[in-house]
Amino acid sequence: MSQYTVCQKLMQLIEDIKHQNFKNLDMMHHLSSGFKSVHTQDITESLYVCRQSIGGAGFSAWSGIPAIIELFSPTVTYEGDNTVMAQQSANFLLKHARQAMDNQVYKTIKTDSVPPVHAPVTKQTFKKLDGPFEYFYEIKELLGKKCPIIKT
Ligand SMILES: Cc1cc2nc3c(=O)[nH]c(=O)nc-3n(C[C@H](O)[C@H](O)[C@H](O)COP(=O)(O)OP(=O)(O)OC[C@H]3O[C@@H](n4cnc5c(N)ncnc54)[C@H](O)[C@@H]3O)c2cc1C
Repeated sequence: MSQYTVCQKLMQLIEDIKHQNFKNLDMMHHLSSGFKSVHTQDITESLYVCRQSIGGAGFSAWSGIPAIIELFSPTVTYEGDNTVMAQQSANFLLKHARQAMDNQVYKTIKTDSVPPVHAPVTKQTFKKLDGPFEYFYEIKELLGKKCPIIKT
C-alpha cells in the first residue's frame, strides 16, 4: 500500500470524523502504527548498514553519517515505541482474523462482579474488510493447508 493511498485514506477519515463517522478509525490506526514501526525500524537499521559499508569513514563526522544517525535514531522510540506500535497494528489483524473465523463480532460485556467476557453478537453487525484483507475470509482453508517439503 503506497504512502499516497494512506494519505488519501487519512484525508477521507478527517472528512468522515467531521461528520461524526468514526468507522475507519481503527483501520487508520492499524496502518499508521504499523507503517511507523516498520519504516522507522527499517531506515534506522539501513543507516547502520550504510555506515559499515564505508568502513572507518562512516564514523567520521566528515561523512555526515553520524549526524544522520543521531538525528534519525530516536524515531524508533518517539511518537510511540516501535514494539508497542507493532503490537497495536497486529491487534487489529488478530481481531479481524478472529471475527472472520467465527463470522461473528465480539463485544466486551462489563459487569460489576465478574471480569469482562467476550460474547458473540449477531452476524448482521459483522464488518467485512476488503482489499488486502480479503485473505481473512479464507483463513480456515489457509490454516488447514500444509506446505509440502520437496526433497532436491
Ligand atoms: C528524542 C525524543 C523526543 C521526544 N519528544 C517528545 C515530545 O516532544 N512530546 C512528548 O510528549 N513526548 C516526547 N517524547 C517521548 C516519547 O513519545 C516516548 O518516549 C515514547 O512514546 C515511548 O514511550 P516511553 O518512553 O514511555 O517508553 P515505553 O513505551 O514505556 O517503552 C519502554 C520500553 O518498554 C517496551 N515496552 C513497552 N510496552 C511494551 C509491551 N506491551 N510489550 C513489550 N515491550 C513493551 C518498549 O519496547 C521499550 O523498550 C520524546 C522522546 C524522545 C526519545
